[in-house]
Order: sequence, then structure tokens, then C-alpha cells
Amino acid sequence: MTKIFYKIADIQAYLLQFSYKQVGFVPTMGALHAGHESLILASKKQNDLTICSIYVNPTQFNNPEDLKKYPRTLPEDIEKLEKIACDIIFIPSNEEIYPKNPSLTFNFGNLESVMEGKFRQGHFNGVATVVSKLFHIIKPNRTYFGQKDLQQTQIISLLIKDLSFGIELICCPTLREKDGLAMSSRNLRLNPQHRNIAPRIYQAMLLAQELVFSQKDINFAKKQAIDFLSQEINFVLDYFEIVDCQTLGEINEQTEEIAICVAAFLGGVRLIDNLLIKR
Ligand code: AMP
Repeated sequence: MTKIFYKIADIQAYLLQFSYKQVGFVPTMGALHAGHESLILASKKQNDLTICSIYVNPTQFNNPEDLKKYPRTLPEDIEKLEKIACDIIFIPSNEEIYPKNPSLTFNFGNLESVMEGKFRQGHFNGVATVVSKLFHIIKPNRTYFGQKDLQQTQIISLLIKDLSFGIELICCPTLREKDGLAMSSRNLRLNPQHRNIAPRIYQAMLLAQELVFSQKDINFAKKQAIDFLSQEINFVLDYFEIVDCQTLGEINEQTEEIAICVAAFLGGVRLIDNLLIKR
């Protein structure tokens, strides 16, 4: 039986009895899809107890319109989580998470000055704030994040290390639709025409990947991929980067894995995706 909690005190009181068990935690913002479910299933395999939180965190939205329009499908989310036997769902309110506006801020250096950090000022500060709060509330042994949000996963990895959370971070692969589009809650907001052309993001990354594989210059690969995306005028590109997967900076001799990262608007809906290439 899936249990649902809305209050911090209630979930913490319930979790006391599991203090010797392995707890896996999957933070989400709801509008759940198979990508989210894959994280829950990964946690169920490795832990005695799996907790999923559903919370649309206002402090990580730098655009009020985006926050307002973020898809909310709570009854369906609960149904999906019950179906895959997620043990606990935590659905806190804004008052519960933010009884006061946080005054502390994070600084993740270069990791937050590029890509998502550059185009969404304050985003990772909001992410790190809410994830820290959730980690303190739930105190899991393991936490599951998607490669889909690669930069977020790197930020959380640094957060866990620097603040000694003692939580194992598991990065799970990106689940895609049949046509290659990365599953995302925001896909629900695409109109049919935009949904049709959205897989071009994946195709552009594949093109860049092929060029990198065949030892072509990184800037050439980038330009070819951007040209390909730009053929479709509906895309408004924030960035298309080919970077070191660990540092998210320039590729150099030490680079073990290359990340191709994209963010683009399609009819006002912001989509992000990435592909990794082992060297
Ligand atoms: P969100 O609800 O968008 O904050 O996502 C919650 C978690 O699910 C994050 O760790 C995401 O990286 C992960 N996630 C989102 N989309 C996918 C996907 N297509 N495949 C795998 N994981 C995903």
C-alpha cells in the first residue's frame, strides 16, 4: 500500500520505524512519465523503501509564467505511483517547505555559470535549496536523478560531497519516446505541430555525435548541428554545447566523457536534452 504524506512531521514520524532500512529517494515536480517511473523502479531494486516527492519548487523558476504553466497532474501521478508500488509519496505545500524565504545562497562556481545556470539565473540555487531541505527531511541512503538534467545531477553530486550528506547519488539514463524525443513533463505543453518537430533536437545531437565520432572539429560539429536545428524556424535556441561531461567546460586531454547539451524553445516551451560520448 502506497502511503501519502503532506506534512514534514508526519513523514518523519512514520520513517522512524525504518531507521535500519535502506531508503531510496526520488525527488520530482510531478506530471510523471515513464522517465520518472524508471527512477522509482531503480530505487525499488536497490532499497527496502522508496520515497517519491512531488513538489513544484517555486524558487527554481526564474520565469513566473513558466511556473504558472508547469503541468500539474496530481491525481494521475498518485495513480501511477500506486501502480508501480512506490512505498511513500511526499507532497508538501509551499508553506511546509518555505515557512520563511531562504536567505542562504549557494555558489557552484563554473558548474552553474554555464548552460542552464547562465540562461536561468538563480535556477540551481533554488534546486540546491529544495533538494537540501528534502534530503534533511527524508535522510535517504540513496537518491536517484536523471541524466536528462545532466547539469542538475552534477550540481547535486557536488552538493552531496561538499555538505557531507552521505547519500549515494545514482544517475539514471534518459528515457525517450519512440521518435527520440526525451520524455519530459513539459512535452505535455507542446501543440501537435511542435510535438512533431520536437525530435529534431535528438537528431541534431546525433548529427553532432557522428561528427565527433569521426574526429571532426568540435566547433564544426556544433555549427552543423545548430544549422540543422535552425532549418526549422520554430526553434529558438538557448544553447548547443559540446563540453567535458564532468566540468561542463571545454574539452581537453583529461576529458573522459563528452556531453552534447541542448536547450531550445519550441512555441514557448523550453526543452533540454543531452547525449554522452565516452572517449
Ligand atoms: P522533474 O520532475 O522534471 O524535476 O524530474 C524529476 C527527475 O526525473 C529528475 O532527476 C530528472 O532528471 C528525471 N527525469 C526527467 N525526465 C527524464 C527522462 N526522460 N528519463 C529519465 N529521467 C528523467
